[in-house]
Amino acid sequence: MTVEVREVLLARRGELIDELATITDVPRDSVTPVSFGKRVGDGTTEAVERLNKVGTARELDAVLADVERALAKVDDGSYGRCDECGEPIAPERLEARPWSVRCVRCASSR
Ligand SMILES: [Zn+2]
Repeated sequence: MTVEVREVLLARRGELIDELATITDVPRDSVTPVSFGKRVGDGTTEAVERLNKVGTARELDAVLADVERALAKVDDGSYGRCDECGEPIAPERLEARPWSVRCVRCASSR
């Protein structure tokens, strides 16, 4: 089981990194001025688009962090146990989201 989970996690990590790479052609923390020489409307649209990308990138980043954490847990043998309370994570949850590192209770109490 552990080997399979590892493969699923590694595959997911690869996908996330690819997705992030396509989104983050715009540097996330950049202070790059919105392009000059265009109508104000264009600049606004671009700014909004950029904000959307930043939001998506942050979400992907958060999932990626969980995937990395889950991989570390596979390695140290704590995979399937909640990072916060140490209780087993429900198998349905792990099946739906193999990179879960907290049980439903802890994840929803954040
Ligand atoms: Zn927990």
